[in-house]
Amino acid sequence: MEARIEKIKQQLQSQGYKLTPQREATLRVLLENEEDHLSAEDVFMLVKDIAPEIGLATVYRTLELLSEMHVVEKLNFGDGVARYDLRTESNKHHHHHLICVQCGQVSEIMEDWLIPLEEKLEREYGFTVLDHRLDFQGICAKCNAKAAEAGGEDRNGNA
Ligand SMILES: [Zn+2]
Ligand SMILES: [Zn+2]
Ligand SMILES: [Zn+2]
Repeated sequence: MEARIEKIKQQLQSQGYKLTPQREATLRVLLENEEDHLSAEDVFMLVKDIAPEIGLATVYRTLELLSEMHVVEKLNFGDGVARYDLRTESNKHHHHHLICVQCGQVSEIMEDWLIPLEEKLEREYGFTVLDHRLDFQGICAKCNAKAAEAGGEDRNGNA
């Protein structure tokens, strides 16, 4: 985690920004909750534990800054709430999401499944893909299992 903070710190500095204690606290919360897709309010509640003097406006501004720097990605999963997702260093492109429309669970697919498509675009359209977003809306395995238990059949009507 320290190495990643150091890297982001340098990234900020190269753009003329400082990693202030408030920015660092915000970043730590994002790193500690990497699997989650926190809203600004979620981040704020968690940052307050380590930096009680911080205000929501500062958290907002920090998140905006980090998303401009492509450290985080601002996402909308269709519930009207902006969420922030840390970009993975090893991945050039944004990871994919599986979003359950029933329980709201969001899982991530870290492997880039679009590489064959990106190669095709480059080949056939001379278009270089720099990034993409791929979110799937559907029913998660848990909800499917629950529905099967309750109704004895799945969504396709199979018994
Ligand atoms: Zn994600
Ligand atoms: Zn890709
Ligand atoms: Zn679900």
